Amino acid sequence: MRIGILTSGGDSPGMNDAIYAVVKTCYKRGIECYGIYNGYRGLVRNQIAPLSLEDVHGIESKGGTILRSARLPEFKEVEVRQKAVENLKANGIDALVVVGGDGSYMGALRLTEMGINCIGLPGTIDNDIASTDFTIGFFTCTETIQKGIELVKDTARSHSRCIVIETMGNKCGDLALFGAISCGVDAVITREHPIDEEELFARLTKKREKNPDAYAIVVISEKNPDCQLNDLVEKIKQNTPFGQHVRGTSLGFVQRGGNPCTFDRIMAIRMGVRAVELLVEGKGGRCVGLRKNAIVDYDIVEALSKERHVDPDIARLADILMYNSKEL
Ligand code: ADP
Repeated sequence: MRIGILTSGGDSPGMNDAIYAVVKTCYKRGIECYGIYNGYRGLVRNQIAPLSLEDVHGIESKGGTILRSARLPEFKEVEVRQKAVENLKANGIDALVVVGGDGSYMGALRLTEMGINCIGLPGTIDNDIASTDFTIGFFTCTETIQKGIELVKDTARSHSRCIVIETMGNKCGDLALFGAISCGVDAVITREHPIDEEELFARLTKKREKNPDAYAIVVISEKNPDCQLNDLVEKIKQNTPFGQHVRGTSLGFVQRGGNPCTFDRIMAIRMGVRAVELLVEGKGGRCVGLRKNAIVDYDIVEALSKERHVDPDIARLADILMYNSKEL
């Protein structure tokens, strides 16, 4: 048997651990493992090479993905996927592990329908996949956000400013929510955890009235049409005593980098091992997830039909930890 592995969509810390686990599990079982470079684009361009134990030596501690990642919108077209299937067959590859997000799962499903068994692993910092409690890279990214918020706090405190910090997360607010909860901030606003603007202004006003040197930190998630960074900065300037002492900053691409934390490493390794086991059992069109600390797998069609909800217990923490204007 010959198994291929590729990483697709946005890169995330821990993708290398999934690759490492797949290569090592294949080795233990006498299966040849091949790396496909640059995601589905590399599959179509035949950028395929064997992956040895030496190739993955030391990668478990490194961020990014040694296989690189790419996006190829044309992969939705059957003729383009046909070329990918031909390349896999020419290289003698029977089955594929795909590490990526929901979009990558769709590609994996389509390839399975064309006769190549594929298993999807949730590789994204965004934690936006419904079929797993956590995605590979989410906790490493949360730690980076935590460091970022603490750095920004130092300057906010020194200049008595209100600083609005925008995190990544695509359309999912978990990165902002977890980062904010772990840092003691004044407010967090995401799609799933909105707060009333008037309440926010009242909160910041009370804080500043009580202490004219008070500083404040507000964390927001990206891609929320109801709350965008520059708009919010302007509104806080106009509606609170912070006036001109308001700034906005986006944490940006630093959030995607860095060596994976222990949780991401262990979870990615567990998932990588399971992916190979499923392929050996002849299964395809499935994706692996973590549920209540157990590794599980779902049919991709079922997984993609699941709706993702913010954990109400986590959202509740934000409300408990952050004072509202009446309590101040
Ligand atoms: P993510 O996997 O992180 O969600 P994207 O949505 O960009 O990232 O998807 C990654 C890649 O998966 C796309 O560039 C494309 O090659 C492939 N893909 C996405 N949707 C489909 C689809 N409906 N059918 C086939 N391939 C798809």
